[in-house]
Amino acid sequence: MTRELTHFINGQHVAGASGRFGDVYDPSTGAVQARVPLASTVEVTDAIAVAEAAQREWGAWNPQRRARVLLRFLDLIAKDTPALARLLSTEHGKTVDDAKGDIQRGVEVIEFAAGAPHLLKGEYTTGAGTGIDVYSMRQPLGVVAGITPFNFPAMIPLWKAGPALAAGNAFILKPSERDPSVPLRIAELFLEAGLPKGVFNVVNGDKEAVDALLTDDRIKAVGFVGSTPIAQYIYATAAANGKRAQCFGGAKNHMIVMPDADLDQVADALIGAGYGSAGERCMAISVAVPVGKETGDALAAKLAERVTHLRVGPALADGVDYGPLVSADAVERVKGYIQTAIDEGGTLLADGRGLVVDGHEEGFYLGPTLFDDISTDMTIYREEVFGPVLIIARADDYEQALAMATDHEFGNGAAIFTRDGDTARDFSTRVEVGMIGVNVPIPVPIAYHTFGGWKRSGFGDLNQHGPDSFRFYTKTKTVTSRWPSGLKEGASFVMPTMH
Ligand code: NAD
Repeated sequence: MTRELTHFINGQHVAGASGRFGDVYDPSTGAVQARVPLASTVEVTDAIAVAEAAQREWGAWNPQRRARVLLRFLDLIAKDTPALARLLSTEHGKTVDDAKGDIQRGVEVIEFAAGAPHLLKGEYTTGAGTGIDVYSMRQPLGVVAGITPFNFPAMIPLWKAGPALAAGNAFILKPSERDPSVPLRIAELFLEAGLPKGVFNVVNGDKEAVDALLTDDRIKAVGFVGSTPIAQYIYATAAANGKRAQCFGGAKNHMIVMPDADLDQVADALIGAGYGSAGERCMAISVAVPVGKETGDALAAKLAERVTHLRVGPALADGVDYGPLVSADAVERVKGYIQTAIDEGGTLLADGRGLVVDGHEEGFYLGPTLFDDISTDMTIYREEVFGPVLIIARADDYEQALAMATDHEFGNGAAIFTRDGDTARDFSTRVEVGMIGVNVPIPVPIAYHTFGGWKRSGFGDLNQHGPDSFRFYTKTKTVTSRWPSGLKEGASFVMPTMH
């Protein structure tokens, strides 16, 4: 019998009531292992009512007491990580070591959010005018929602929830319907850590649940991560309904390879950043841009050789570099991009389409695929592939390489590999991309800095984690106060100014 998953509302698992379900696969075997309930509008609005009631108490706790819940959560998730990582791998398909990294990068934002008492301190001006003090405070928004993608089922929910909860909000998470079990386990761990019931809720679902969140007045902010068309839809709909929104979308991350770079180091970095997690990372490098013919020829040869050694297999197996893609549809979509690139004139250096993993013939595997001679007008250059496909798009000189990363519609991450500090500095300053790596292939900023892409990789003005996240999840109230005896002096009809 297929296991039936639940929602997690008001501190308990709640069976789905809509009668609609989605299949949850084990991508390594291709088998359906569970079904996840897809919430109706009524189920979502009931969960919002629960969260609204719970937030009143939680928001009134002092910030240090709230932070202690996060500190206890850190202990619990540390003990649970081996089991949680395996659970993550069986639904997502990434290797267990990679799943541990997914959890760890989320944990680091909880560590950061535990410093909330400091981050929530307001500002104060004494004597702004005669006898007048001005101070501002940061207050929680109320109930906020997170809508998250399949590719980091631990990290991204924790990126959203950590600062939101620490700031005193209640949270409704609508995780990806493709791998909902890790978010449900995270909800159990928060409860065990002492979070009051109803403060962190998981509502599983699809567009119907998302639309219910976007149109309900009681939801004050929406944090989204996923593909660009949905990010733009959620940003527009949330704004039209008077909500704050931060919505992060797709990517096409370039790595510029200068002629002075160490090409063995570059090739190793590209193999890890291009094929790790089967390329299903928003910060994966999907475009290598070698500068000059000599660099391009040498890099292509090194990559073509290294790709042959990659080990693809089941997520739980030892010695595997990357596992299956998340779904059969994803495999078909990526194969479509590969065929289109061949048809449009790309040079195929490695073709992963024929890969079969012994004993796992039904799994969603795709071998590493490598293209050379990709030009900027080809489909595979313009669109996000989100699979184990690396393309080489050559540039004649540095300015052309810089323009490629700058002109692309996505602007999530970019890297430059060089031994020249001046070139690296020029690139970091001028490129129109949100996160830059200098000799670092996947420049995901650390928890106390902020994460966010530019152009069509990010909609909204405040980034994830770091100080921005506390600005996003709080509203500022500014008090101008005076305690003089002169309040009875009579009305003043001119605009108050500070003398
Ligand atoms: P997705 O857009 O399909 O789904 C993301 C979320 O939106 C899920 O919770 C899903 O249920 C919901 N959703 C899907 N269709 C919807 C619709 N029509 N209306 C309302 N909600 C809908 O994305 P995905 O396939 O889960 O994740 C992969 C994408 O996420 C890639 O494009 C990747 O680049 C991107 N991503 C971006 C970042 C970033 O920080 N920029 C990080 C991770 C992933």
